[in-house]
Amino acid sequence: MNNRSKVIQKRIMKLKEKRNAAILSHNYQRPEIQEIADFIGDSLELAVKATKINAEIIVFCGVDFMAETAAILNPDKKVIIPSADAKCPMAAQLPAGLVRKAKENNPDVPFVIYVNSHAEARAEADVCCTSANADRIVEQLNSDTIMLGPDANLAWYAQRKARKRVIPIPSNGYCYVHRAFRKEHVSKVRREYPDAAVIVHPECDPEVQLSADFVGSTSQMLKFAKKTDYERIIVGTELGLIQRMRREIPDKSFIPLNSVICFNMKKNTLENLLNAIEKETNAVNVPPSVAERAKKPIKRMVEIS
Ligand code: SF4
Repeated sequence: MNNRSKVIQKRIMKLKEKRNAAILSHNYQRPEIQEIADFIGDSLELAVKATKINAEIIVFCGVDFMAETAAILNPDKKVIIPSADAKCPMAAQLPAGLVRKAKENNPDVPFVIYVNSHAEARAEADVCCTSANADRIVEQLNSDTIMLGPDANLAWYAQRKARKRVIPIPSNGYCYVHRAFRKEHVSKVRREYPDAAVIVHPECDPEVQLSADFVGSTSQMLKFAKKTDYERIIVGTELGLIQRMRREIPDKSFIPLNSVICFNMKKNTLENLLNAIEKETNAVNVPPSVAERAKKPIKRMVEIS
């Protein structure tokens, strides 16, 4: 990290104190942001953490739907995001109208919505899920058929684990970052590093999931990396998590399955973080009527899991 970044980090830390703000960083954020964050984690971990911290301002370093979740769960706090352009393209693949239409067409089938979705869409769904608990939520619901969106690979993963029929809505929703991993990448690293474990995210394609040693959310991958006896681990997710693993588990070696980054996550920089905290710009507001309805599927998820 260069001197300029260190100077900006110091300015942010001072301002953070002055404004009584807390910085929450998703696992996929730039290392220089993760380094000064109060908490690092996956989207739901961070939103829940936000309810437990004593700060007036939450600076959410992640993408739009994550900051919305934090705003919904923390109506008494001001939530700001460094870059207003940090938007998840997968969340945009499931507009509220599509959830409504799917429910009209299948009135007896519960709709499980991935937390990687917008508040308006979540307000229409029955229960929320994360990549860490999608299989358990599907398993617990009292129906043999479930709808799940927007990620079709997560729907496939939940179907396989819960042994129920899971209909993906939309039929081909995807995360471009995790779609970039291929079975050939797994074959290549297995040849190069026969002693390594391969771990991937459930947003990866089914054939990639089937060829891995472990499939899990970012928090589950981190736990696996900390506990496993493997000393070398090949990681199939966004580079930011690998950088965190290298920082927190220095005695093991972490190799990207393929070096992919989420350009949307990386729209947050130290510069726009400083600007946002200084001017308190890019406030994330969810209309109270939507927030109230969008909170229900999250509450239901917590009850079920
Ligand atoms: S990694 Fe994928 S799901 Fe996450 S913000 Fe980027 S595009 Fe969206």
